[in-house]
Amino acid sequence: MNAEIISVGTELLLGQVVNTDTTIVARELSALGINLLYSAVVGDNVDRLKLAVETAISRSDLLIMTGGLGPTTDDLTKETTAACAGKKLVLHQESLERIQNYFNEKHVSENQAKQAWLPEGCTVFRNDNGTAPGCAFQAETGCTIIMLPGPPSELEPMLKNCAVPYLKQGQEWVIVSHNVHIYGKGEAPVAQMMDDLMNGENPTLAPYAKEGECYLRVTAKAHTEEEADKMCQPLIEEIKKRLGDFVYSVDVETLEELVVQKLAQQGKKLATAESCTGGLLAKRITDVPGSSAVFDMGCVTYANEAKEALIFVPHEILEQHGAVSEETARAMAQGIVKRSGSHIGVGITGIAGPDGGTPEKPVGLIYIALSDGEQTWVTKRSPIGRTKSREWHRHCAASQALDMVRRYLDGLPVIAEK
Ligand code: ATP
Repeated sequence: MNAEIISVGTELLLGQVVNTDTTIVARELSALGINLLYSAVVGDNVDRLKLAVETAISRSDLLIMTGGLGPTTDDLTKETTAACAGKKLVLHQESLERIQNYFNEKHVSENQAKQAWLPEGCTVFRNDNGTAPGCAFQAETGCTIIMLPGPPSELEPMLKNCAVPYLKQGQEWVIVSHNVHIYGKGEAPVAQMMDDLMNGENPTLAPYAKEGECYLRVTAKAHTEEEADKMCQPLIEEIKKRLGDFVYSVDVETLEELVVQKLAQQGKKLATAESCTGGLLAKRITDVPGSSAVFDMGCVTYANEAKEALIFVPHEILEQHGAVSEETARAMAQGIVKRSGSHIGVGITGIAGPDGGTPEKPVGLIYIALSDGEQTWVTKRSPIGRTKSREWHRHCAASQALDMVRRYLDGLPVIAEK
């Protein structure tokens, strides 16, 4: 099945809103094994929208429209698309009642009521997060058209709960994908190691880069989900065999999620002392729901005085070795364990740039330490000869710290053997 997406909204063309809807839809289509061949953005203009829709429905099997379903006069998607598809709009009573209930009024304005007019014979997608319903129907050309509301907070649940099941109904095949997440080896060497496995047709294997890490997607197609899943497993096992402990998870999408899970399973607590990452590590951990059970505290100790006063970094260490040093990172990790009483403490200190580097201590030099109160391990991240942003250095340092915690919890060497 060949698909295309049209996102409607002048705000997208002006660069005022980033077109995240397309990304969200594209990911779901790929997971369903539907080929996305085109994606376009059209402003709030009937003629241009008409042209885009006519082109799409004449060449694609599936068209997904995002945005322009709302109550305002510039919301033209439904009227225009229905006309192109040869469908009349009819009042959907249940949707009208939902809109009335939403506003707690029996007589909503004509604009609001307009949202309940949908293409005749369509399957209506209820909007549990807003007023504009979505829908699916067939154009006279045979192309299936799905319309979804623009706000991502409305689009995403409607896509997952209504549009994906709708699309699955018509599919003879079930597609199952698993993501094998890797930390400590880049996309290029990983792809090289998997070269002979990449030519398979079912299951398929594809590498993807992620900031500072990468993952491999294993996808299989079969008549049932169980069957497709079974087909993925031998390939996943082979990847794990080849990459060993560089694989951190299958399907747990982030290191922070995995670390929170493992800490909870082991009943352990973590605390962090951060300098150059400015609390990013603590933020990433606390982004995970349920982290309060495993995260004790995080100190952002930027100034030397703060390192001494809050996490007991000895004055002499800072004086002799400087704030960016293996010794300081070690003392920070040990200090935060002492301060918090946690099982594990992490200390991060380095130079995130863009300024502040010297030939001896260049931008990107970051020390990350992990202590359990008895033993302490320190990793040195060295700049890799490429100019990277402050944000990149900080993100990667936090990821490396998380990987060290994951390794510690798994009883693996805390510092990966290269
Ligand atoms: P509403 O009922 O909110 O009017 P709608 O379906 O008419 O829903 P639009 O009016 O097109 O949606 O857009 C409403 C808001 O949704 C936009 O201002 C924007 O913030 C967000 N939005 C729309 N399209 C996209 C998109 N493609 N990607 C990300 N956000 C979007």
